[in-house]
Amino acid sequence: MSCIFCRITAGEASADILYQDDLVTAFRDTNPQAPTHILIVPNEHLASIGDVRPEHDGLLVRIFTVANHLATQEGVAQSGYRLVTNRGAQAGQSVYHLHFHLLGGRRMTWPPG
Ligand code: 5GP
Ligand code: ZN
Repeated sequence: MSCIFCRITAGEASADILYQDDLVTAFRDTNPQAPTHILIVPNEHLASIGDVRPEHDGLLVRIFTVANHLATQEGVAQSGYRLVTNRGAQAGQSVYHLHFHLLGGRRMTWPPG
């Protein structure tokens, strides 16, 4: 298994895991871009948001529910946070296993770079 996020969700590679259930795993990004920077990923390998199909509806609801839970736990729910997924080279995707970045704890700029 060469995908690093598959290895993390399977417990074969180490990560600072904050949450895991039957569908998703959440862990801290090793190169944080904000005081809170968590990655929320499906346990199933999907290369990007471009691979999402109607049968993934439960998965996507779970990802957003876990994001809400973690934002509250991290203390950024009220101050505000950003939930981002990059798809493809021009968007800056570097790991081709679908993931949502939960970023918070500092003021964000818009538009993103
Ligand atoms: P992308 O650029 O694909 O949107 O985001 C990939 C993210 O994964 C980056 O923020 C990068 O720091 C993070 N990342 C890459 N490899 C690892 C790893 O092995 N462990 C963890 N926790 N994060 C990683
Ligand atoms: Zn994977």
